[in-house]
Amino acid sequence: MSRTIMAINAGSSSLKFQLLALPEGRVLCQGLIERIGLADAVFTLKQGEQKWQETLTIADHHAAATLLLEKLLTLHIIPSLEAIDGVGHRVAHGGEAFKDSALVTDAALAEIERLAELAPLHNPVNAAGIRIFRQALPHAPAVAVFDTSFHQTLEQSAFIYPLPWRYYDELGIRRYGFHGTSHKYVSQLLAEKLGVPLSALRVVSCHLGNGSSLCAIKGGRSVNTSMGFTPQSGVMMGTRSGDIDPSILPWVALREGKTPQQLNTLLNNESGLLGVSGVSHDYRDVEKAAQEGNARASLALTLFAERIRATIGSYIMQLGGIDALLFTGGIGENSARARHAICRDLYFLGLELDADKNQRNASFIQSEQSMVKIAVINTNEELMIARDVMRIGLAEPVEMSA
Ligand code: ADP
Repeated sequence: MSRTIMAINAGSSSLKFQLLALPEGRVLCQGLIERIGLADAVFTLKQGEQKWQETLTIADHHAAATLLLEKLLTLHIIPSLEAIDGVGHRVAHGGEAFKDSALVTDAALAEIERLAELAPLHNPVNAAGIRIFRQALPHAPAVAVFDTSFHQTLEQSAFIYPLPWRYYDELGIRRYGFHGTSHKYVSQLLAEKLGVPLSALRVVSCHLGNGSSLCAIKGGRSVNTSMGFTPQSGVMMGTRSGDIDPSILPWVALREGKTPQQLNTLLNNESGLLGVSGVSHDYRDVEKAAQEGNARASLALTLFAERIRATIGSYIMQLGGIDALLFTGGIGENSARARHAICRDLYFLGLELDADKNQRNASFIQSEQSMVKIAVINTNEELMIARDVMRIGLAEPVEMSA
């Protein structure tokens, strides 16, 4: 029986949604409410080729959710609110408590709110989204899907930072990792496409978008990942620095009198491709500037690729080899230049691109003689969220035999 599932991704001033029919995975409609809290908020909904867009005042997330549900009814996308069978929510941080997606109970919701201390910008707004949809759709089970939970399989040696022990023990400072839903989805799809069980594969997954992270996956389990205590660490990103010498921060704070908040802005919003190129955070813009001869734009692209290469190298060591390298995210899925810069001169590892397939964004872009598969797979976090609603929120009770 087909079920109608809503996948919700609530941000501080936005609400992304996708309504899907499962198990087929058909998208019934999708859209975005942006600039929530402002007089010129924008509501966009797409159904197949059709698109509705409206600019209006949307006071808060509650008003946004009410508007969304009203639209689904007035546009006859659903006959009644009861037609929504379950709701999946993307939640940024599951700490050490959530090792998998979870059915939202009062206790689970309280824990998500408690974990706001680790993700102050995200968990409160994710929890608010859960509350609003629980109230509006009391019949529909809610499932929380965490960016962190796929990485709960990391061993201590991969997640402990070499700080005094009490920072882990008392404050929970450790590598958590993010983008887990995406890394899990693309690695599962890779195994399907290869016709090989994921349990037999050593994979390095590169999710390269505005935020970027790599994940070493052995037998379907995350064994290392480049983001850490926050989504700030690891490789270079659109506006985030990724890893830097940590002592730069106190040095700059003393020198320029910056507050912790200002340092955060520096690392999160002013660095990465934007900081180095001075052109843009957007990979396409930086590519264009580099083609036009901008030397800093060129350097930014080289840095971006080199840091990814270094991470892939260390993950191959950790995995004891590699069967497949996987690209996803806006840059990974679309930029032949980025993939070429990352994969160049790796034939000594048995890894070589086919230039033509790379240019075409083919599903598999390795050359004939490459021993390592190189895959380009479009990520689909909404589908993964909806599947988790089916698996956890709408699982048929198992018949007990006498
Ligand atoms: P987010 O992390 O916000 O979800 P996306 O995964 O959508 O981001 O990735 C956005 C990035 O993908 C931007 O840097 C954008 O320039 C890049 N990108 C999208 N399409 C292309 C393309 N055709 N070629 C190169 N880069 C692209």
